[in-house]
Amino acid sequence: MSAKRRITDLSLAEFCEFAAAQHQRPFRGQQLFDWVMGRGVCSVSGMSNVAKPLREALEAHFDCSPPRVQWSGDAASGTEKAFVQLSDAAGDGVEAVLIMEGERTTACLSSQAGCPVACVFCASGVLGLRRNLTRGEIVDQFLAVRERAQSHGRRVSNIVVMGMGEPMLNYSAVIEALDIIHDPKGGGIGARHITISTVGLEKGVARLTAEGKQYTLAFSLHAPNDELRRELVPFAAAMSIDAMVQAAAAYLDGTGREVTFEYVLLDEVNASSDDAHELARRLRGVRGTVNLIPYNENPGFNWKRPSPEQVDHFAEILRAAGVKVSVRKRKGHRILAACGQLRLQELHRTH
Ligand code: SF4
Repeated sequence: MSAKRRITDLSLAEFCEFAAAQHQRPFRGQQLFDWVMGRGVCSVSGMSNVAKPLREALEAHFDCSPPRVQWSGDAASGTEKAFVQLSDAAGDGVEAVLIMEGERTTACLSSQAGCPVACVFCASGVLGLRRNLTRGEIVDQFLAVRERAQSHGRRVSNIVVMGMGEPMLNYSAVIEALDIIHDPKGGGIGARHITISTVGLEKGVARLTAEGKQYTLAFSLHAPNDELRRELVPFAAAMSIDAMVQAAAAYLDGTGREVTFEYVLLDEVNASSDDAHELARRLRGVRGTVNLIPYNENPGFNWKRPSPEQVDHFAEILRAAGVKVSVRKRKGHRILAACGQLRLQELHRTH
């Protein structure tokens, strides 16, 4: 990692403290925050209304280079992927995804470089964990996606932390980055439009519940029973489905927010009528929504996507049992963006 902190790592309060330490008036801190978070300008040469001594001090203390980003995908398909380079390893980086669908423009962000969770259907699981991202590296992804969205005449409306990594294993950096992205004077994204997705780590979920923030909590469920879930998401064995259901109720009590249960549908694995009935029994009466994600077939993996009829039938069984359901139609989320694929390709190209 670069020896210097990224300039995107700083909150408004920290910019104000920095300005004060440089014997500047507090509004200078706000000005700096506005350049970085309001206008997406990291390079001090672009900060035209900032006095030279303050710009020089900024450059001396922080890494003020713009995020290095390569884009792939096609805006016409509604999904574009950014490969955001990390400073500490040539050719290595993380993915962020821009998803444009109707009125909604979503930025999907990574929380770690690689992932230790090892879901059997995910390329990031194959790579394992390299390290946690810093706050600034998470904010960099947001800035890159926001700029790309602006080039298409769109404004980012939603954030999902569903890219590479398990956010609860990098709790402080993720929450502090989201707080900067949410800050009305920063990224300005409403808390209820920000979703944190976890395989279910009790400590992190309890901490988020206790903090009472309005972020949306999503559990990656992917199976109607613990036995199958342990096979698909080996790392998640620690939190049973019953514990997850209890945590969902506690989150609702503590924050007033209903949780989402993500369920990737894999043909001949977890997408049968029996699976749907079992899931319906587990979730009957639980306040929350099941988000069904038909698997996006991926080179190197043998998993199959169920037919649209199977997906509809699965959803109908849940609805008939009174469970709220949504079906993800488009590419772009965690698995559908083939998370980790870009990083895998880049590593192969450069090593
Ligand atoms: S799906 Fe998410 S949690 Fe599972 S291995 Fe991939 S990045 Fe990690």
